[in-house]
Amino acid sequence: MRSDTVTQPTAGMRQKMATADVGDDVLGEDPTVRKLERKAADLLGKEEGLFLVSGTMANQVAAATFCRHGAEVIAADTSHIYNLEVAGLAALFGLQVRPLHTQRGVFDREELAAAIRPGAIQVAATGLVCLENSFDLNRGYAVSVDAIAHMSDIAHGRGVPVFLDGARIFNAAHALGQSASRICAPVDAAMFCLSKGLSCPVGSILVSSREFITQARRIRQRQGGGWRQAGLLAAAGLVALDEMIERLGEDNTHARLLASMLASGGFPISSSDVDTNIVRLEMPVEVSSDAFALEMSRRGIRVKVISETAVRMVTHKDIDEAVIPNVADAAIQSVGCLLDRGRALLETFPK
Ligand SMILES: *Cc1c(COP(=O)(O)O)cnc(C)c1O
Repeated sequence: MRSDTVTQPTAGMRQKMATADVGDDVLGEDPTVRKLERKAADLLGKEEGLFLVSGTMANQVAAATFCRHGAEVIAADTSHIYNLEVAGLAALFGLQVRPLHTQRGVFDREELAAAIRPGAIQVAATGLVCLENSFDLNRGYAVSVDAIAHMSDIAHGRGVPVFLDGARIFNAAHALGQSASRICAPVDAAMFCLSKGLSCPVGSILVSSREFITQARRIRQRQGGGWRQAGLLAAAGLVALDEMIERLGEDNTHARLLASMLASGGFPISSSDVDTNIVRLEMPVEVSSDAFALEMSRRGIRVKVISETAVRMVTHKDIDEAVIPNVADAAIQSVGCLLDRGRALLETFPK
């Protein structure tokens, strides 16, 4: 349950991959890639799509397409693009990130407005505002369409474009009861991952205007991201778009179910903390998250340690509803066992 990236491709994906029509994608001749890019762009309501190897590359290429060297990019302080991309914006493209705090992925209006700067003799010009939905890979909050529209209006009002990192956009769409294209309507470009809950082996898709994607394709090429018979991978993506989006709603439901079972077991969590398929679990003060993860692994369950006091559990297609009660029981037992051990240890100390 560490991540939805561990999902195995389906039998249907493997079969389509084996028989895909392919060509040289750098030359624009892979029909399966073309089909996937077209379909993804339509699904998100944008003109064109670009298939890339990862979400990280999609984010990086998007920012580099929007911004000139030396510009500033506004992003959430707990966003993926700021925390988990090896300082790529700075290291690869000369972009400085200005991290801002958010409430569940929503910037404070005044703070956002004040952070967007036109540039001056001593000041970097803001080149891009980055949003994320679902927000925070360790929390998975769904950001409402209204909030995205308001934040985008503030940026657009100052002539700054908006990019949405929608790695898990379809989980957010289920939680909001909105289509992915509605969520993306206010933003200039967006990306989503095929390799997470959608269960593909590889890939993410960036969508935007035709002009933007033409430039993004050149930047992807410069990064060494041009690929040849990539239709083998795109074939799995097409299966994902046809067959895997609908079922992501189940993952969200399973995560909420898990949260409510954990709450009944005494954990400080409520199902209102869980919008999508990610459960962040805080440990009681006496228990370290490393010790908890070890106890869980002894019970056959792998969780991700995200801080000294918290772990993450993610639901996905390879986690059946039937195992959710076992996971909750294992968590309750693990904490019980660690607390007992702590008490026993304390008794060995002289009073
Ligand atoms: C996973 C993730 C990415 C990066 O995707 P990779 O394919 O792992 O590079 C970007 N943003 C968010 C919010 C993610 O969860």
